[in-house]
Amino acid sequence: MTESQYDVIVVGAGSSGLMSAIQAAQQGVRVLIIEKNKRPGRKLILTGGGRCNVTNRTTRDELIKHIPGNGKFLYSALSQFNQEDIIAFFEDQGVMLKEEDHGRMFPVTDSARTIRDTLLDNCNRLGVDFLLESPVEQVVFTEDKSRVAGVQLATKEIIEAKSVVLAVGGRAYPRTGATGDGYAWAKKAGHTISRLYATEAPLLSDDEIITNKILKGVSLRDVNVTVWDGNAKPIVSHLMDMIFTHFGYSGPAILRCSGHVNQYLYESKADRCRLTIDLQPNLDAADLDSAAESQRDKQVLTILKQWMPERMAEVLLSQLNISATTPFKQLDTEEVAGLWALLKAFPISATGSQPIEKGFVTGGGVNTKEIEPSSMESKLMPGLFFCGELLDINGYTGGYNITAAFVTGTISGWHAAWSSM
Ligand SMILES: Cc1cc2nc3c(=O)[nH]c(=O)nc-3n(C[C@H](O)[C@H](O)[C@H](O)COP(=O)(O)OP(=O)(O)OC[C@H]3O[C@@H](n4cnc5c(N)ncnc54)[C@H](O)[C@@H]3O)c2cc1C
Repeated sequence: MTESQYDVIVVGAGSSGLMSAIQAAQQGVRVLIIEKNKRPGRKLILTGGGRCNVTNRTTRDELIKHIPGNGKFLYSALSQFNQEDIIAFFEDQGVMLKEEDHGRMFPVTDSARTIRDTLLDNCNRLGVDFLLESPVEQVVFTEDKSRVAGVQLATKEIIEAKSVVLAVGGRAYPRTGATGDGYAWAKKAGHTISRLYATEAPLLSDDEIITNKILKGVSLRDVNVTVWDGNAKPIVSHLMDMIFTHFGYSGPAILRCSGHVNQYLYESKADRCRLTIDLQPNLDAADLDSAAESQRDKQVLTILKQWMPERMAEVLLSQLNISATTPFKQLDTEEVAGLWALLKAFPISATGSQPIEKGFVTGGGVNTKEIEPSSMESKLMPGLFFCGELLDINGYTGGYNITAAFVTGTISGWHAAWSSM
């Protein structure tokens, strides 16, 4: 091995790695960031449809609630660096952010490149060295395996450092470089990897309405989608938009449900998961009754069309064998009750989701029980730190994943630097 040139090596120049390198360098230590791609931040520039939903302006409790994969693990980290600190980090450097619906924060430039470039400018200002187009092959330990010693590149060259931060991401969108390389390294250091699964991914279905493509392309606004377990207990509900596709269901409400569907299918060994769509979450059966009664001479399809797209209304009526042209006043009590029941809980099912590679975020990862929550250091291998999606942490869309990446990146950077001093 060569003489240790660096105090901290960060592997992976994505959201978490760039932030980790900046925060480590700010402590005055020598930092090297190693990235296999030609350019850093390839995934980062794709985020938020190219606009980068950089964080979410919300309370700590709400933030944690929106990180269903081990959000609570972040309590300690968030007490050191939180979503407001992320906003301040950018705004203090003149990168203004704007708030959109549901607290989502974007750069005012509407360009994810602004975020990536700000991170790179910081790295350059603080003297972080970059080694690009250099895939890391493995982490190197001291001979007695009592501490991390550095990394080995694919070229077999070994670079030593006192602390190593693994920031290589998960397995979602592998063309950006996130190909899951870090799991084997973590295992070699003694860690367990919680089962990997797709989250924030469209759902697959063989429901008749999907196979006959009758609703393909129809989108529903502000509907409440609920995932049910085998005992008819709700697992989770999300009130957002959704869309019918040629393979199943997609859109924000469905993406948020997908991790829960995959977990349920795995744990129950069932071949499908039941979901329902409440097409009018703000109206109960009595409200629907009085609204329809006040227009009782109109055709039932006309009445339903005020609450949902026409094609959806036609499906509801055909499932109930009610002719679309029937005036509402001619429906009997049972038919009306059946109509409201279907409108409030339209049943669908999913056989799974698209694979991790096509989802936005990897569920599962390095077991958080083996990581020190206040420093992101391995409890098993001194000097080894983890951050970002490689950890068993996953959030909903809405800026929660980059927040988790920046928060764990910051904490790992600080502590990796201090541990190397
Ligand atoms: C299309 C898309 C849009 C998204 N939009 C948002 C959004 O708007 N807001 C939000 O909060 N979240 C969003 N996410 C999720 C978010 O981007 C990720 O959770 C986050 O970037 C994870 O950061 P990371 O640093 O852990 O991994 P990454 O950003 O994936 O970085 C990992 C880096 O490690 C490098 N690497 C991997 N293996 C090696 C190796 N062997 N040697 C050297 N380098 C290696 C990779 O090339 C990569 O550059 C989106 C995800 C996708 C796919």
